[in-house]
Amino acid sequence: MKIAVNKAHFPVTVLGPGRRIGIWLQGCSIRCKGCISQDTWEADPNREMEIDQLLDWCRQVAQNGFNGITISGGEPFDQPQALSALLDELLQWRNRSGLDFDILCYSGYPLATLQSRHHGILSKLDALIPEPYADALPLGNMWRGSLNQKLVLLSARGRRRYTQYVDAPAHAVGKRIQASVEQGRVWYIGIPDRGDMEALEKRCAEQGVRFSDVSWRQ
Ligand code: SF4
Repeated sequence: MKIAVNKAHFPVTVLGPGRRIGIWLQGCSIRCKGCISQDTWEADPNREMEIDQLLDWCRQVAQNGFNGITISGGEPFDQPQALSALLDELLQWRNRSGLDFDILCYSGYPLATLQSRHHGILSKLDALIPEPYADALPLGNMWRGSLNQKLVLLSARGRRRYTQYVDAPAHAVGKRIQASVEQGRVWYIGIPDRGDMEALEKRCAEQGVRFSDVSWRQ
């Protein structure tokens, strides 16, 4: 089965505990005002890849040691069959390998919607950060973009690993954003505060570096 992927990165250290494999899926029908990942909105068949191929990459980078997998987007639940199949493969890998990694997933859908429509997928996750991004609200708790977004623990592993972070303040371990340069583009990974990206753009412009194409506006 194929899954549409915007990007995958390792290690991600700002979206969940420890060193993580980050997978951003392509396509989001929710389109929250102020979303900083607007490059992930369009469903794009050119970004589809075989789930087996994605798993091969995960196994390869995992050799460097990792603690978890973060699935974001885009909207992962806009590809429910592919997301479910990906999770099946990840769980099978975890069971067979004995590796102790957790799976955290973001979604812009309300928790109640996910519980009624995608109960089966939730049962395959350890932790979930649901609810749409609300630009009018302040920054949320750790790893969350706005105050309405909760950290929901869905398994024993999730409770063991994430309970301490449920109410942790946004910058409990400092204000951290990762940057990576891949294929001539700069990726910022993490949860910026209100105005951070505009401030970064302004500071870079003052140094003569202009951004031609940014994901936080269209
Ligand atoms: S914040 Fe997430 S759910 Fe909202 S538009 Fe952006 S990618 Fe979609």
